[in-house]
Amino acid sequence: MIFDDTIAAVSSPPGASARGVIRISGPDALPIADRCFRAADGGRLADAASHSRIEGRLTIGDDLECPAALYLFRAPRSYTREDVVELHLPGSPGVLALVMDELLASGARPAEPGEFTARAFHHGALDLGQAEGVAEMIRARSDAQLRAAQRLLDGALGRDAARARETLADLMALVEAALDFADEDIEFITPRELAERLQAVVAPLRAAARSDARVERLAEAPRVVLAGAPNAGKSTLMNRLTGLDRAICSPIAGTTRDVLCAPLSLPAGEALLCDTAGLWETEGEVDRHAARAARDAIADADVVVWLIDLSAAEGTWEEGRRVPAAMVNVANKADMLSPAERQNALTRLEQRGARVDAVVSARTGEGCDDLRTLLNERLHLAPPPSDAVVLSADLRRAVADALDCVDRAIALARSDTASLSQAELVAAELRLAADRFARLAGEISADDLYDRIFSQFCIGK
Ligand code: GDP
Repeated sequence: MIFDDTIAAVSSPPGASARGVIRISGPDALPIADRCFRAADGGRLADAASHSRIEGRLTIGDDLECPAALYLFRAPRSYTREDVVELHLPGSPGVLALVMDELLASGARPAEPGEFTARAFHHGALDLGQAEGVAEMIRARSDAQLRAAQRLLDGALGRDAARARETLADLMALVEAALDFADEDIEFITPRELAERLQAVVAPLRAAARSDARVERLAEAPRVVLAGAPNAGKSTLMNRLTGLDRAICSPIAGTTRDVLCAPLSLPAGEALLCDTAGLWETEGEVDRHAARAARDAIADADVVVWLIDLSAAEGTWEEGRRVPAAMVNVANKADMLSPAERQNALTRLEQRGARVDAVVSARTGEGCDDLRTLLNERLHLAPPPSDAVVLSADLRRAVADALDCVDRAIALARSDTASLSQAELVAAELRLAADRFARLAGEISADDLYDRIFSQFCIGK
């Protein structure tokens, strides 16, 4: 990547939205923005102070105009440490594309994926862990993942690695001194002390590697499948629990029979809620493909929610008992019954051997919070530790490699045949580990890193 030109990209998510953001960074960010932006108060951009917000209008081509706000961040007080201009305008994809054309015609270059963050890294604004934190944050699908990415962005991993590297340098000096003064009878550090100090210094990094594994499991969200007789209220409950509008998301009739799934937030994490509604409503001839899709979804489920219409609680119970996964029996449409009628219906179900785990109304939302808590329990979801970090494959390898070196040094120090040749081996392992920790601490600027890390970003970040 070359960092002496000016880049521009749409930084807001794709699609229409109330506000779109175009970001420009580089030495010509101001003059390029100046060509299409007019401040409402007639002021000149060149005179504006850093961190100012300027209301005005964007002129696109000869006759198009739209209202916009311009945010100015002068180097080095910006995300990239370069001059940065952000244009906030109505988030219409068409308008954003026209403004981008205008900026490119004025000399900006379209940004590569992750190039803004690559520039921030290049100019020393972020260490490597923080840059990956940005990538993880963009990818985060749950609060837990977001918090873990935030920790990476805070630079906690980099600080731990820098601390480990310093201690390793001290220990290396002691081991090397022992080699230099091998003929004298001086002990600089006992092997036991060396092993203990090594263990202590890598403890936070070991914890990071462990917590990473726990956060990652959340990425493979457990599946909750909604099943039950037609009209039990599966689609309505799906909408209620996920906030998803099935009218918008449901596949066009006759084109696909895929099971509809959406993220479901539970108190301690995220699950995937899948609705088999369309698959049970096989009118007339049985649709074998649909029936199989429903069976597959249920076979894959971690928990099946078997929905019963409490206002017509008949006929559906026996079917439910054949479902193999852990099952939660939920009685729906509680709002249609008086308290006494509810009790009667529940008693009737009980007499038929049905255990009802939760009573809800998908229509009013009654009982839905309790259902979330129940699903959370059945899925054994536990929040990841608050100090968890997420590591990309690249960082995870770097942490594991560094820990391996330290482990080998510890094993060598602990072996009772501590000899001169062994001290040399220990020193070599410590040097390798120190190098790897240096990389984690951000003391590296190899070009290939840009390619490996920043290319995973979206454009505009
Ligand atoms: P599905 O076939 O299982 O997906 O059932 P739907 O979600 O399509 O619901 C069937 C009918 O029951 C619709 O008319 C819904 O409006 C209604 N319904 C669903 N849940 C409730 C509820 O909690 N209370 C009431 N009163 N009606 C509901």
